[in-house]
Amino acid sequence: MNTSHYLSPRVFKINVGFLLSAPLGTSQDSTFDFPEVHVSDDLSLYYLRGPIRISRTKEGILVQATLHAGLQSECYRCLDPVTMDSVFEIEELYTPVGSPSSEFHINDDAALDLAPLVRAEVLMNTDERVLCRPDCKGLCPECGVNRNHVACTCAENQIDPRLAALRKLLDSK
Ligand SMILES: [Zn+2]
Ligand SMILES: [Zn+2]
Repeated sequence: MNTSHYLSPRVFKINVGFLLSAPLGTSQDSTFDFPEVHVSDDLSLYYLRGPIRISRTKEGILVQATLHAGLQSECYRCLDPVTMDSVFEIEELYTPVGSPSSEFHINDDAALDLAPLVRAEVLMNTDERVLCRPDCKGLCPECGVNRNHVACTCAENQIDPRLAALRKLLDSK
């Protein structure tokens, strides 16, 4: 996959300096509408879209969002690539560095990095048991072909073990 045109994870860094000096309760709404974007070394999305609100609270900055992420997974039955849409809600508090009450922190340069949060949410909300289609035929346990694409004759050639024993008996005579 050529990923050179993907946006870098830097797009997830949001400056909140103006909010930190604003009165409590001040919020700012915006919209994520990224095309292909790298969230981290191990996660790239085909798109990430949705409304996002950041608000000044007593403890720090509250991030709320409802996001749609397009990602590539693989069918657990036949291993073909599957494009899926993952929807998830974010409600997470970013606190100043040194505050122990939160997992996510506001950097010294008054920026939030949403990439680790988005990554965690995408991975947590992605059902690993995804199928390429409801009636996926899977891989043949005998020859390994993808039975959605290729018809093999393994099932027909399979001999009942009891018959096999009988045949052996007959052959030995
Ligand atoms: Zn499949
Ligand atoms: Zn087969």
